[in-house]
Amino acid sequence: MSQRLRVNPIMCAGHGMCAELLPELITLDPWGYPIIARGPVPDELTPMASRAAAACPTLALLIVEEEGR
Ligand code: SF4
Repeated sequence: MSQRLRVNPIMCAGHGMCAELLPELITLDPWGYPIIARGPVPDELTPMASRAAAACPTLALLIVEEEGR
């Protein structure tokens, strides 16, 4: 199992807090909406990814468990 970041585009308000908290994996498009890096969350970034997900005001940023690495 691996952890991956997902954004619910309907719930995302596009203010970019997640990119500030986790710039290693999240950048913003020209409209301020997050672009998530491909692939699993590296183990060393798991705490920061959890923090970014918890800080999302609309709960649009999710960490999901997926099969494979
Ligand atoms: S913090 Fe949440 S609402 Fe804000 S841009 Fe990131 S995913 Fe969207």
